[in-house]
Amino acid sequence: MRRTPDVVIIGSGMGGATLAASLAPTGADILILERGHQIPDDAPARDPDRIYRNSAFRSDETWLDETGKPFSPGNYYNVGGNTKLYGAVLYRYRRQDFQAMEHLGGISPAWPFPYETLAPYYDAAEALYQVRGDFTEDPTEPPHAGPYPYPAVPDEPALAAVRRRLEKAGLHPAALPLGVDLDRWLSHGNDGWDGYPDTRSGKMDAETCGLAAALSHNNARMETGARVTHMTAAPDRGRIASVTYEQAGETVTVTPKIVALAAGAVQTAALLLKSGLANSSGAVGRHFMNHNATAMIAYDPRFHNDAVYQKTFAINDWYLADGDNGPPLGNVQLLGRVVPKILKATTPSMPMALATHLSRHSVDFYAISEDLPDPESRVVLNGNDIQLLWRRSNMEAHNRLVKRMKQALRRAGFPVVLSRLFDGRVPSHQCGTARLGDDPATAVLDPDCRSFDHDNLYVTDASALPTSAAVNPSLTVAALALKAGDAIKRELAS
Ligand SMILES: Cc1cc2nc3c(=O)[nH]c(=O)nc-3n(C[C@H](O)[C@H](O)[C@H](O)COP(=O)(O)OP(=O)(O)OC[C@H]3O[C@@H](n4cnc5c(N)ncnc54)[C@H](O)[C@@H]3O)c2cc1C
Repeated sequence: MRRTPDVVIIGSGMGGATLAASLAPTGADILILERGHQIPDDAPARDPDRIYRNSAFRSDETWLDETGKPFSPGNYYNVGGNTKLYGAVLYRYRRQDFQAMEHLGGISPAWPFPYETLAPYYDAAEALYQVRGDFTEDPTEPPHAGPYPYPAVPDEPALAAVRRRLEKAGLHPAALPLGVDLDRWLSHGNDGWDGYPDTRSGKMDAETCGLAAALSHNNARMETGARVTHMTAAPDRGRIASVTYEQAGETVTVTPKIVALAAGAVQTAALLLKSGLANSSGAVGRHFMNHNATAMIAYDPRFHNDAVYQKTFAINDWYLADGDNGPPLGNVQLLGRVVPKILKATTPSMPMALATHLSRHSVDFYAISEDLPDPESRVVLNGNDIQLLWRRSNMEAHNRLVKRMKQALRRAGFPVVLSRLFDGRVPSHQCGTARLGDDPATAVLDPDCRSFDHDNLYVTDASALPTSAAVNPSLTVAALALKAGDAIKRELAS
């Protein structure tokens, strides 16, 4: 193996795989280092007990919480990263998300560029991830160059009925933009895809789209089970000189021309802190954000939910304002179907008969509100351990969002609505820990995701996001990676 590739990409999740897809056609020698392995295609992959009770797809890694207590984070290390289990909702940030916005909990700052700068990269990301959608239904959707590559995934009959009930209650449900080939997914089993691992069976994720495109070029290759442990800078500290990883008990060092770090917002921050790199601003590991998110179960004994996948529409009525000209509250979208085994695994005290009854007569939602960047919300190293000091923000907005949705569901004929806030052990939408910006004094990366401190270092994962908005992050991670890809191509060409 050559020890001097043109580009080393660390991590094969959304940011790493999308960048690889962008760079591979240049013919550059690209090495992707991925600490995990491919999720095997064995029959029980979609068994809810394996996923929710036995956490079979999680690593045994632990992080420390703010009290120093170890916990097992819901963070997945495998080829394709967290996207292998994701809900495949591929939203664009709204145009207003790029501008300063006042929230109940404070200001969400402006990005260093407007929506229009990222729009062509969103178009390209939607093409790469074959997004299904219909943006005409959602007035908050920013302008697109053309329609989605495929029509929206259809509502199942039970959900079409819920949509009508919500419309009657005054809401405006709109199709979720989704990266899933429904027929292929269902031909492998009668399950939803949200939270279920994709064994290359119809989900459009980092492995099946980004990596597949990259690895179709002979000049791109991937090493799995290759965990990067350290990076070093050249003596003048201007450039990254080497990347060291461990694989099958061996320690290997490579000396690429360009390094792109895409290990996920927590691991990227940890690696930079451990290596003592890219941190002249002191912002590495700071501004950790993770959406304030609540699962909601709306119960109506007369309603019969025979849906399989459920996750097809969302409500953005309170995204830009609270409905009374007050500050924004967030997005509410359908969850993947919460089947009895999931209810039982997440609430062990619930008798199975009750879980079955509840699941049969309920519809499940996921409410998301923006978490604002706070320098004291941090990923730090505590000895060799990662410690997460998440300081939630903007909870008043989130509580109001949940309250508004509960009121609407009651108007729509669901007399009982249960809700549960996701806690800090589920960092699904982690971001912000190496944020991009204009000012090297306060940001880690420039607007092309290049380190202000090291010319040949890029960070192309969710760490780069300066704000979390209130929509799912992956498409924005992909769009930023494609933008960084253009900057790297210019550098390779010169
Ligand atoms: C259950 C679940 C559902 C979700 N649903 C959605 C959704 O519907 N829509 C959406 O937009 N987002 C969703 N997300 C979030 C989404 O998956 C992440 O935002 C996205 O994957 C982030 O991309 P990334 O490149 O930052 O990190 P990841 O995709 O996590 O990739 C990081 C990669 O780096 C590897 N890695 C880490 N450390 C090292 C190391 N030291 N050396 C080598 N490799 C390393 C990891 O194994 C991983 O493959 C969901 C997440 C979860 C967990």
